[in-house]
Amino acid sequence: MSDIATATASSPTPTEQRHLTVPTERAPEMQRRVQEDVARIMAAITPRRTWTFTNRETGQATTVTCLPGCVLDHSRDIATPTHASDVYCRTEGDDSAATVPIDFNTGTPEAAQILTVWIESDPFSTDIARRLPHAVVEIIDEHYIAPLDPDALAELIALLTQRVAALRMAHLQLVGTRAAVTALPEASA
Ligand SMILES: [Zn+2]
Repeated sequence: MSDIATATASSPTPTEQRHLTVPTERAPEMQRRVQEDVARIMAAITPRRTWTFTNRETGQATTVTCLPGCVLDHSRDIATPTHASDVYCRTEGDDSAATVPIDFNTGTPEAAQILTVWIESDPFSTDIARRLPHAVVEIIDEHYIAPLDPDALAELIALLTQRVAALRMAHLQLVGTRAAVTALPEASA
């Protein structure tokens, strides 16, 4: 979380900052869309499931009420004594088939998903930030940013928006550079 805060605080220039602001004429429309989405999500995730497992440390039957929208079946948690700290709930990740070829320094690119996100809670965590519903962002396979509370997720979105702006600049630069290279007469000996 602090990494994101640092990166966000250190990098924006006034020009980049403008890209982070929603134009005022579009703000009410976006707000309406967010409200509609929240209503749709709320309708989809009720009612919440309740189940019981045997706490491996205490031997006691312990009841869990699932995170709204939890997609785990918890059958293994229920069937065998389980460490409470291993119990967690999560929603389905929206990976949207966002696969890109990435070279993990092996010389052979592998298809990897980027920016997969889901909501998770670890109801028995000693870390209160993990007990509460929080966002997990899998930046790339097996590399996570978590727990992200709503403010931290908003900071991450702002940071990624800046990075997309940088990609757009690089795209323009690449197109221009290619055009220049093609137009220039080749250096002759
Ligand atoms: Zn669950």
